[in-house]
Amino acid sequence: WEDIKTTDPEIYDIVNRELDRQEYGLELIASENFASKAVIEAMGSMLTNKYAEGYPKKRYYGGCEIVDEAETLARNRAKELFNAKWVNVQPHSGSQANMGAYFALIEPGDTIMGMSLSHGGHLTHGASVNFSGQIYKVVSYGVNPDTEVIDYDEVERIAKENNPKVIVAGGSAYARIIDFKRFREIADSVGAYLMVDMAHFAGLVAAGIYPNPLEYADVVTTTTHKTLRGPRGGMILTNDKELYKKINKAIFPGIQGGPLMHVIAAKAVAFKEALSDDFKTYQKQVVKNAKKLAEELEKNGLRIVSGGTDSHLMLVDLTDIDVTGKALEKALVQCHITVNKNTIPKETRSPFVTSGIRVGTPALTTRGMKENEMVKVAELIAKVAKNVKDEEGTIDETIKNEVIADVKELCKQFPLYL
Ligand code: PLP
Repeated sequence: WEDIKTTDPEIYDIVNRELDRQEYGLELIASENFASKAVIEAMGSMLTNKYAEGYPKKRYYGGCEIVDEAETLARNRAKELFNAKWVNVQPHSGSQANMGAYFALIEPGDTIMGMSLSHGGHLTHGASVNFSGQIYKVVSYGVNPDTEVIDYDEVERIAKENNPKVIVAGGSAYARIIDFKRFREIADSVGAYLMVDMAHFAGLVAAGIYPNPLEYADVVTTTTHKTLRGPRGGMILTNDKELYKKINKAIFPGIQGGPLMHVIAAKAVAFKEALSDDFKTYQKQVVKNAKKLAEELEKNGLRIVSGGTDSHLMLVDLTDIDVTGKALEKALVQCHITVNKNTIPKETRSPFVTSGIRVGTPALTTRGMKENEMVKVAELIAKVAKNVKDEEGTIDETIKNEVIADVKELCKQFPLYL
């Protein structure tokens, strides 16, 4: 860090302050995690200098022989991890993975069917403000308002009524295990492709504790930085060689130029880590922690949507305590706890305000926290939630300082990077 300190003290300072925030705060954003130093070293390497448009052994630039090895390693490790025949590791992000997949599968104007944003789908599953909602006709499914889980009969009914060309399963705020077999049957019944976006639960799939969507889907997309704990990026997997060729063309030259070879190398490092037994133990703990946290939050009077979780995340419904997601998010940030506000089923407020928060355990579990710590974390969240005074998330100074002290103590017991 000596060079950046001299060249750009402002950025040096920002990096240090952010490091401090991560080290001494409770990170409960379900889509975040802490990549290992090995992953971060690969990302910060000289591989960033290399242009490598194309694919291994078929590049448009000279001097790619060495980075070719990195991309081949990343591909082979991802194949092993997910039992996939073909993998494209070049998408710069999850959104670009999804764009690449759609471009490979369908034409502009065709119909896609995904989970609605307000029920836990992602922007790229057809939201009107996103390219997916602008290029394609969109029909959405959601969760049953009473059970708060996906109603597969309803998914089937909507599919039969609208004949989508692609059905997307997977989302950003859905805590339960998705029945991919049922989705496959529904897709087959209307002649649609099945695309699974496993961005959130990819790490759980890699560890064998969540069903592998590759057994059912035509195409599987993912991010590499959530439960999978790699660098920020995306990936597309398939078992169909013809689709793979189309996916490759869609990514390059379709929607991207030169791949980020430093990030691809970091993906390879993360996949190697994910192939280890330690990673399986870690993912099991992520789910144990989430289940414990959900249970403890309920004991503290906070309702969990659908009554619990099967994965790394949960949605907390704040309706009964009359606090908005926006206010609680702000209050928690002041206490060095990060979550995000989230809409809940039967939402009555705008997406900027919301009646819920989304909470996840991947990051805290990476630090080594277990069920005992989840008891404390739930207590702290509930303490803040019950003391929010207004929409700005104002809370009593004494309570705030007590929570900050407890958070710091907990973080010191489970050091991260420092
Ligand atoms: N798909 C899902 C299910 C997501 O939750 C996200 C991000 O949160 C994405 C795709 C998009 O990933 P990115 O932010 O890398 O574009």
